Amino acid sequence: MKKSFLAAAFTLGVTLQPAQGQDLTAAQMHARLGTEAAQDQYSGYASLCDLEAHIRNVNVPRLRKPAGANQSERRPKNGNRPQRIDIPATQVFDNLWFLGTASVTAWLYGSEDGYVLIDGLTTDAEAQKYVIEGMQAAGLSPSAITAILVSHGHGDHYGGADYLAKTLGVDILMSQEDWDLVATLGEHPRFGPPPVDGGTVADGEILRFGSSEMSIHLTPGHTPGTISPIFKVYDGDRQHAAMLWGGTGFNFGPDVEIFQTYAASAQKMRRVAQDSGVDVFLSGHPRRDGTVERMSQLASRVDGTAHPFVRGEGGYALFDVLEHCALAQAERFLAQSAKQ
Ligand SMILES: [Zn+2]
Repeated sequence: MKKSFLAAAFTLGVTLQPAQGQDLTAAQMHARLGTEAAQDQYSGYASLCDLEAHIRNVNVPRLRKPAGANQSERRPKNGNRPQRIDIPATQVFDNLWFLGTASVTAWLYGSEDGYVLIDGLTTDAEAQKYVIEGMQAAGLSPSAITAILVSHGHGDHYGGADYLAKTLGVDILMSQEDWDLVATLGEHPRFGPPPVDGGTVADGEILRFGSSEMSIHLTPGHTPGTISPIFKVYDGDRQHAAMLWGGTGFNFGPDVEIFQTYAASAQKMRRVAQDSGVDVFLSGHPRRDGTVERMSQLASRVDGTAHPFVRGEGGYALFDVLEHCALAQAERFLAQSAKQ
């Protein structure tokens, strides 16, 4: 314990004094670092550092309720299903559009000579409404979509992908690792069956379409083959580099090794992002990072002022949050297994 406390403090080049002689565990120390990093720009991520949180596992087939299971149990009255809020298609950069709801986003990247849609929303009906009709209402051509890149194999991102792929006659792209994952998941009562075929993309690959391109980076953790792409975005004559952290939540079970893998992915991605000059940090879940609030700031933006999605250097705190919260949970479950 002590060793990891000191090792991490050393890596960071900071000295952390336990408050009033209190001996912080390694888990608490990482949780504190992660929470502090989240304070300024990433408060929606701070819950990742909650050392009391129940860590469920959604990377396994959903268990069927036994016949006769109580109806009220099936659908909690207070609803842990967040309310769907209508958001029109919104142009965030010259070549990047938000399509989706306040709970999940399909980012449309590229231009009329070719787009890639990142993620397929939750259901066929959502995909039809927010992607097909959303694009049409914004004067964009759904037929210019060349592929659907699914960031990771969870139903809230692939639920409508199959429908879009068939309607538009394009491929679904995923990492091989997540094709393997979805092949084990079976049908979900809300998201339907996972897609069964499409193409694969690999770490380091450059995806080219129309006059655009994006680089593919695998960041395993959230799922075994989560993809975090990097791509150039334009704000008039200003160019920025955007990264989408492909999968965030800790819902893969209390598995120390996966938490360590997740932390390593955050570390790796920080280096890749720095090398690519990333200054725009995106999420597939608007509630995590205040996407909706920033889109409304964008709508009232005065010409010549900063773009609300450009975070610059301060944005790199994201990787501190992700890394330390993952390490905090790894230490938590390591300590628990040592006790048993
Ligand atoms: Zn997910």
